[in-house]
Amino acid sequence: MIKISLPSDVNFIIDMITKAGYEAFAVGGCIRDAILGRIPEDYDITTSATPEEIKTIFKKTIDTGIEHGTVTVMLKGVGYEVTTYRIDGKYEDARHPSSVSYTKSLREDLLRRDFTINAMAYNAKDGLVDPFGGQDDIKRKLIRCVGVPYERFSEDALRIMRAVRFSSQLGYEIDEDTKTAMKELSGNLSKISEERIQVELVKLVCSDHPENMRVMYETGITKVILPEFDAMMETPQNHPHHIYSVGEHTIKSMEEIEKDKMLRLAMLFHDIGKPKVRTKDEKGFDHFHSHPEVSFEMTKDILRRLKFDNDTINCVSKLVGFHDKLIEPNEKAVRRAMNEVGEIIFPLLLMVKKADVMAQSDYKRHEKLQRLATLWSLYTKICENNQCTNLKELKIKGQDLIKIGYKAGPGLGEELKRLLDKVIDDPSLNNQDTLIKLAMEDLR
Ligand code: ATP
Ligand code: MG
Repeated sequence: MIKISLPSDVNFIIDMITKAGYEAFAVGGCIRDAILGRIPEDYDITTSATPEEIKTIFKKTIDTGIEHGTVTVMLKGVGYEVTTYRIDGKYEDARHPSSVSYTKSLREDLLRRDFTINAMAYNAKDGLVDPFGGQDDIKRKLIRCVGVPYERFSEDALRIMRAVRFSSQLGYEIDEDTKTAMKELSGNLSKISEERIQVELVKLVCSDHPENMRVMYETGITKVILPEFDAMMETPQNHPHHIYSVGEHTIKSMEEIEKDKMLRLAMLFHDIGKPKVRTKDEKGFDHFHSHPEVSFEMTKDILRRLKFDNDTINCVSKLVGFHDKLIEPNEKAVRRAMNEVGEIIFPLLLMVKKADVMAQSDYKRHEKLQRLATLWSLYTKICENNQCTNLKELKIKGQDLIKIGYKAGPGLGEELKRLLDKVIDDPSLNNQDTLIKLAMEDLR
């Protein structure tokens, strides 16, 4: 019998519920991850006790999702979701059940879960409960629906994206019948909220297999959630710098960058405007004039549509807008670019540029990489020497200007910018005495 070691607090919760006369198991993702030797993100517990009964067993609980049978049990400041065995009622709108009802059967609770690998439960007393072959599917590296795929995806269309997401995180294939149903029903994703779609998209994009964006395209998922991606897949680029379509280049560039949300999203969107601006010259070469600007605007719109937070929208769209920015390989130009792009985004921009180059043809690749390496070492040097690239680091403030006779108002800001400009060109000017002298000259 397979043995899984659960954290002591999880065992404690299970024991307490069991002593009160009910069943309780750790369930879902945590069991899948434990079998895989991965560290589970969190532990969910499923039980035959009702939420009311759970609340009498534990001192501190929170009603996090009482309408679907979930209470959070708090232990030493950590929350554990405890959910009553549940049968989901009829799904009438491809996203939520019209009713949920409790059941005394663990099997029925597992039956409502999406994939076999997510439909296993475990406790120390009863061992592993795996009625649908989850362990086998882990061995076969397979994402397979519990029950009839067509029905399961009809109930909740988000599961179609979850299939690709788990396949990407785990490096698993999707079972043929499951995949067929995904293709047939992907249109229903239009009924799913952007918030839920965003969660799955980010998990896929940040996984070991971002190339599964191709699967998203082939199954008709992006057609619904990100039709701009389909346009990239369908836009060739006949040009010496390229060997791939815009879409395939995009996928390759995602593989070439680390698994960071901002960076992966930046690669996903960096050329999103290309299909809109493509022109052909007389030799038959494709050109994409002003594609960074168009991509910048589109990225902002799309991320807003997908309900991303402002930090993500700002960072990703900036990286997209600047991805093709020409930076001369000298200190002055790098300081100026750091000022324009922002000192936090700048190093990310160099990573984006590198991934972009790596996803192009070999043509001039060596020169392009050499140039980026130079920019990187200039950037490091500027940081090491604490050279000023923004107003925060300027050794003079508005207050100092007022003391020597400047009036508060827009003129003050303009003067600070003028001084910053000089300091960016010549870092040795960044000390208060020199800057006061320069400001006094400007005043006269
Ligand atoms: P992660 O490690 O990303 O959190 P997870 O498997 O824990 O993966 P969750 O979204 O946290 O996924 O959901 C917990 C469990 O609830 C799943 O393992 C699955 O059993 C069930 N589940 C979640 N979403 C659905 C859904 N849309 N349809 C059916 N079952 C679902
Ligand atoms: Mg989870």
